[in-house]
Amino acid sequence: MATDISKLGLKTKWQDLTGGMIVAGAGTSRDFNTGEWSSNKPQFIEEKCKQCLLCVPVCPDSSIPVKDGKRGEFDYKHCKGCGICVKACPFGAITMEGVK
Ligand code: SF4
Ligand code: SF4
Repeated sequence: MATDISKLGLKTKWQDLTGGMIVAGAGTSRDFNTGEWSSNKPQFIEEKCKQCLLCVPVCPDSSIPVKDGKRGEFDYKHCKGCGICVKACPFGAITMEGVK
């Protein structure tokens, strides 16, 4: 019982949902905006950032994009607000705020 994720919606019956521990398809993580689960939100303080990129590999959700060797703004569609990047940054360029 693997759901076509493009057809998921508020009217989807529970019987049509993908069962636990089943991988319906490859490369689908971008299709789920799981950032809405978060109760905390990291804030990027660009003027403090030294572009050391230490925060990038520790993010379990690949929510810190890098382009041309520089990190960008957080991908809030997928960030879970775990705070690991805050701990990893040696320059205080990331703070955490609660989501209201
Ligand atoms: S708070 Fe967690 S999920 Fe969000 S960007 Fe930082 S390390 Fe990644
Ligand atoms: S760890 Fe801190 S200083 Fe280094 S790239 Fe990330 S935000 Fe910038």
